[in-house]
Amino acid sequence: MNTDVAVVIDIPGRGQGLKAARNVTAGEVILSDLPIFIAQNDVGEFCTACLRALAGRNDTVACHDCGQATFCSGACERLAQEDPAGHSPAVCRTLSKLDLHGLSGESVAALRFLVQAQALFMASAHNEAARGRWAAFAGLSGAADSKSKDSSDLFRRLSTATFSAQLPQLAGSRPFLPEEVADALAKEELNGYGIMAQSGPQGERRIRGTAIYPTASLINHECLPNVARTDDFDAADVKAPHNTAVHFKALHDLPAGEEFTQSYFPMHTSYPVRQQRCQEQYGFTCTCPRCKEESTWPSDDEADSLGEGDMEVEAGGEPGSSMEAAEGEGERADAGYIQVFLLKYVCPQADCFGTMVPSQPGSSVHVCNMCGCQRSEAQFLADLKAAHSAEAMA
Ligand SMILES: [Zn+2]
Ligand SMILES: [Zn+2]
Ligand SMILES: [Zn+2]
Ligand SMILES: [Zn+2]
Repeated sequence: MNTDVAVVIDIPGRGQGLKAARNVTAGEVILSDLPIFIAQNDVGEFCTACLRALAGRNDTVACHDCGQATFCSGACERLAQEDPAGHSPAVCRTLSKLDLHGLSGESVAALRFLVQAQALFMASAHNEAARGRWAAFAGLSGAADSKSKDSSDLFRRLSTATFSAQLPQLAGSRPFLPEEVADALAKEELNGYGIMAQSGPQGERRIRGTAIYPTASLINHECLPNVARTDDFDAADVKAPHNTAVHFKALHDLPAGEEFTQSYFPMHTSYPVRQQRCQEQYGFTCTCPRCKEESTWPSDDEADSLGEGDMEVEAGGEPGSSMEAAEGEGERADAGYIQVFLLKYVCPQADCFGTMVPSQPGSSVHVCNMCGCQRSEAQFLADLKAAHSAEAMA
């Protein structure tokens, strides 16, 4: 662990987690994590190696051998070629032989992910660094079970491409077996971080690719999290591969011993959708304080759809209670507390749904981890007041 702030803990019945080794100030970075590997979603718009946006760059390089990789610079191309799970000759040859016919965009991305995961696995037989990275991937939670999606078609396409690529036979290395394909996909599903791009022209959410981080996925889920991730994928002053690190920052002050929690999906997501996603995608039932509270609310079909009505508060809540009053009371998450929390930490920009993160320790300015917009404490208080008077009118 590259930090003095977070320590790994075992939680009975819930696997592992991370907790604060000492008191933490709002805005402090509690964990920075570099990916085991990254797989891009589509080719052409973002660097294959570091996912940096390519628009406006004049030094991009495309791989003509496979036609499935574009790099933000020659340096990134070399970095990727030397990385067994990046764009090594074995990955490039296998990608060039892939049959993508009739596949959805999601399945194409899954297949690219598998090519890279398999290449790391094969390299781990004879390369010390790859062995450590493969061990980190293999140690992540998630294994294929009867509920897993059918991966036989992806396995077939992967193994056909691997065979036609005629990779050099190195001692001890072999391609994935069907069950290893299913396991890799289960780990991707549970641990993969979708790296978001700026929204499209119609506000549609777009994803650059998926990154697998060794430690970040130890942070468990809560629907009112106490940390959120930030990244520097497009930062001009951060060189690849360091621009691919994620940094988790404390949303508010935390006492020593407190477990760190992140939200696996946007916080404005409604109770039924959160319950469903936790169950279907992550295989657990969320019983966090917010879910306990919201489970008692009368169901409202209007509010059940993502993005609508989630900020509403039921009559009888305590809109007057401030964050300060509600914090430090442990399990408490009444309707008023939830409303204020969401108002404070969900990005105020329409259709963004990013998380407002303190810009740095001790700062009262919050920055959206998706769109980059900023809000001062004074603006937040004004927004809070406006929300209360709008509610009083209703
Ligand atoms: Zn790059
Ligand atoms: Zn290539
Ligand atoms: Zn919950
Ligand atoms: Zn935003």
